[in-house]
Amino acid sequence: MLFERDTTTAFPEMANTRALVYSLGIEGRDLARWLLNQGATVWMSDSRTAEQLEIADAYPPEGVERTIRGELLDPKGFDLLAVSQSVLKNHPHVERARELGIPIISQMALALQLCRGQVVGITGSSGKSTTTALVGEMAEHAGIEHLVGGNLGGELLDRIEGVPETTKVILEISHTQLQYTDRSPAITATTNVTPNHLDQFSWPEYIDLKRNILRYQGRDDLAILNADDKISRDLRSNVRGQLAEISLERPISGNGAWLEGDEIMSRWGGSPRAVANVRDLRMPGRHNLANALMAVAIGEAMHLQMDSITTAIRSFPGLPHRLEVIGRAHGATWINDSIATSPERTVAALNAISEPTILLLGGREKSLPLERLNRAAANHCRGAICFGEASINFSAAMTDAVETVVEVETLAEAVEAAASMAQQGDAVLLAPAGTSFDAFPRFEARGEAFRALVRALEGFEEVSS
Ligand code: ADP
Repeated sequence: MLFERDTTTAFPEMANTRALVYSLGIEGRDLARWLLNQGATVWMSDSRTAEQLEIADAYPPEGVERTIRGELLDPKGFDLLAVSQSVLKNHPHVERARELGIPIISQMALALQLCRGQVVGITGSSGKSTTTALVGEMAEHAGIEHLVGGNLGGELLDRIEGVPETTKVILEISHTQLQYTDRSPAITATTNVTPNHLDQFSWPEYIDLKRNILRYQGRDDLAILNADDKISRDLRSNVRGQLAEISLERPISGNGAWLEGDEIMSRWGGSPRAVANVRDLRMPGRHNLANALMAVAIGEAMHLQMDSITTAIRSFPGLPHRLEVIGRAHGATWINDSIATSPERTVAALNAISEPTILLLGGREKSLPLERLNRAAANHCRGAICFGEASINFSAAMTDAVETVVEVETLAEAVEAAASMAQQGDAVLLAPAGTSFDAFPRFEARGEAFRALVRALEGFEEVSS
């Protein structure tokens, strides 16, 4: 419980509230702006140094009374603690606030509380952003009032507070956002639950966080699960309302979406209907087919017109930095999958590519198992170039799997090495399996740097989609 109130009025108690916000990142700034609008006095605090915050382009919004960098300030003396999802629930300062009886809010918890429209919440270890953006496209084609946001980034609270009941609110929700939520969306989707972020949580803790998305649902609410994914499937026993499922492997007997030969099929109440042919999809890879099925099921649950669902899945090209084809150089197709920050994702990317592949692996490691990556690399890769902080670990994991393994320091050196290794018909894939934080503020910055380096290669050519 955060605050009990009628969502049509402002928080009356905010005028005299001294609020402390943890993190100067996107969510911290959103919380600070919202609190300032409610009339609160706001302090902000971030454990990153001033220099790190400058690199991340993270500055407090106007009106913030004080900003403390390089440490998280003790919450004692504040009336409210507002935390970004990056601050874990078991952080000593968060635990201390709890002991002191200081209410704790987060962007997602508050968003779910403020929102009057129907919320669709999309979580999962991978495929969240793609599915969320695709459902947003469906809503766009259907011409209905809607809002897309959440873990995708950007401002949320001020936007969500004003939406009328008729607006459909489509939110990407990460496991760290689920640490603080105490409500569930009316429609939830869990794309898959695979080992990720095990440096922050144990595997059972991680699964439990994912379970939070449907924990507070009621009998009329709906949970959509992925029948092909063990953990997502096992969440069936936690479903409190209606259940729908998706599968690439077999027909779904109740409501849901599945693949039958090359046809995407859907059933919602009546007989199965063909939605689209897989050859009509622009997004590459089998994992994106799973995302398309999930988006179809969500679109049906939102009662969108079938032609808007079909049009969106046929036209959506996918998001940048996710198997994004940059162009051709040195005989190879260069592909940017900078978002692949875990070995699972790198495996998904490799499985989506049919050409012999030179894989660029690197960044910062999260202590995740590398066996599946090793096997996928053995099946798909001609070469592996390992860069950044984790280059030694990755190259050790690749040596018995891949013919040529090279270790370099930077991404620029990795691109150079790949260019000299590339042959006609190869794919060069940046799907690094590590996070970007050893050298870049975000995975997008790493992808942009890669794009620029590839475009600068001799003989670079764009390819039209
Ligand atoms: P998220 O928002 O969960 O981080 P994205 O939609 O941004 O996921 O996709 C990121 C990457 O994860 C993709 O480039 C791909 O490598 C992998 N991926 C996406 N969807 C799936 C899926 N359904 N199953 C497995 N891997 C996936």
